[in-house]
Amino acid sequence: MEHVNRRTVLGMAGAATIATTIPAGPALAKPRPQPHFLKPGDLGYAEELRVFNLVQTPNPGLVVAARTAGDVRNAVRYAASHDAPVAVLATGHQPSVPIGRDAVLVSTRAMRGVTIDAKRRIARVEAGALWQDVVDKAAPAGLAPLVGSTGIVGVVGYTLGGGLSPTLGRQYGWAADHVRRIDVVTADGRSSTVTATSDPDLFFGLRGGKSNFGLVTAIEFDLFPVTTFYGGSIVFAGADAAKLLHAYRRWVLTVPEAMSSSVALMHFPDQDGFPPPLRGKAVAMLRIAYVGDAAKGAALVKPLREVATPIMDGVSQQPYTAFGAIHADPVDPVTAFERTGLLSELTAETVDALVEMAGPGAPFPITLTEVRHLGGALAREPEVPNAVSQRDAAFTVFMAGITGPDGAQAARAAQDAIIKRLRPWSTGGMYLNFMSVDEASTDAVRHAYKPGVYQRLRKLKRRVDPCNMFRLNHNILP
Ligand SMILES: Cc1cc2nc3c(=O)[nH]c(=O)nc-3n(C[C@H](O)[C@H](O)[C@H](O)COP(=O)(O)OP(=O)(O)OC[C@H]3O[C@@H](n4cnc5c(N)ncnc54)[C@H](O)[C@@H]3O)c2cc1C
Repeated sequence: MEHVNRRTVLGMAGAATIATTIPAGPALAKPRPQPHFLKPGDLGYAEELRVFNLVQTPNPGLVVAARTAGDVRNAVRYAASHDAPVAVLATGHQPSVPIGRDAVLVSTRAMRGVTIDAKRRIARVEAGALWQDVVDKAAPAGLAPLVGSTGIVGVVGYTLGGGLSPTLGRQYGWAADHVRRIDVVTADGRSSTVTATSDPDLFFGLRGGKSNFGLVTAIEFDLFPVTTFYGGSIVFAGADAAKLLHAYRRWVLTVPEAMSSSVALMHFPDQDGFPPPLRGKAVAMLRIAYVGDAAKGAALVKPLREVATPIMDGVSQQPYTAFGAIHADPVDPVTAFERTGLLSELTAETVDALVEMAGPGAPFPITLTEVRHLGGALAREPEVPNAVSQRDAAFTVFMAGITGPDGAQAARAAQDAIIKRLRPWSTGGMYLNFMSVDEASTDAVRHAYKPGVYQRLRKLKRRVDPCNMFRLNHNILP
């Protein structure tokens, strides 16, 4: 197993406050010419291709380090004139298919602009904005977006894939449900602003279809009047995992929509840097976000807090800006092998299977096996329909095996066995944002959509990208 430090697995208890140390890359000798076309070997090429998940490194023939929507347009036109496929990279949290020398890759990491319209409760963000950028700018106005679990995921990629917020999702729905306008560059090299009325089909497909229909240069979406949450995480010993998960499966049936939560079975490596209660241990972690009165939140959490004596308890009233502390996801790049699924229910048998396969006695210690509660507004159709197709699922399952190449085969085999074991409770679907390199075939992508939605998306693809220029992703065929 490659060296995995505390920050690359999970920054428990305050690690979310540690600044990222992603290598800065080579110093630039002089300003690069506009619009930043970089070939292999050019200064800045490798820096522009930094990714969070190192499981796959992009290797395009040309990188366009975009600063403006005009740069994105130029990149697409250039690719079209060379019959080249186009990929887009913001943070590299979700690799899909290999990106080789035949490809043009548009890097959006410099397009970090965020504007908050407090009166209309709307945020407008550029293609490369990260969640923490938006949360920090919205907070002074008393507003909050439907963030993901970590502040370093890209807002646009997350939102176009659905956007499952572990803080506000059950109360307000998917992030894609609250998008108002999308600025996009399509395969014909043109920019347009897409709304529910300007092009209903494209607006439908972009919200759930990711980069299949174009490269988004900016989006506008709703913010919500939320300033604090009662939440964080509570860690239990592995020996108490079954007790916690059985209590959890009963508890989720009783909670209000203002309560979002998940449970994760985790295995920490026996390495320096981890606090003694976690180092080398298997644990069960409960994640909580309740939007409302702290006393009410505490009363709701009480039955789970009392299933056993926690090793760590970080659940308290917190400013919304501290949302990253709930999951304490890794902040440094990792090599993570991932798999996902959707469950229609969490029965006693499901819990037994999960604990046996991923808990303390697991045949292979997968770093993280998470079950996240859906339902509430996540189950309802939005005002303006979109392609997000997970509304019938009750839980997501997400696994990440953080390991070096020597552990890849075992991690993949173990995850595969868990997916198979969970089949009796699976909806048969998958959540696009959680789909990995091992779930990037066009066949797998079909499972991210209801059949009718998938057919509508294919028809849209034939209209706006008939040559499948945007195929370096979780691809929908024309
Ligand atoms: C640690 C971790 C925590 C996560 N937590 C959550 C969570 O709580 N909820 C959730 O829903 N998801 C979550 N995700 C999944 C995350 O939403 C996806 O990985 C998402 O694709 C990340 O987008 P990105 O732009 O940061 O990543 P990238 O790898 O840079 O991009 C991934 C894909 O997003 C699309 N994309 C990115 N930018 C654009 C653009 N400008 N135009 C069109 N398409 C674009 C493309 O298809 C691209 O291939 C998490 C992932 C990780 C690794």
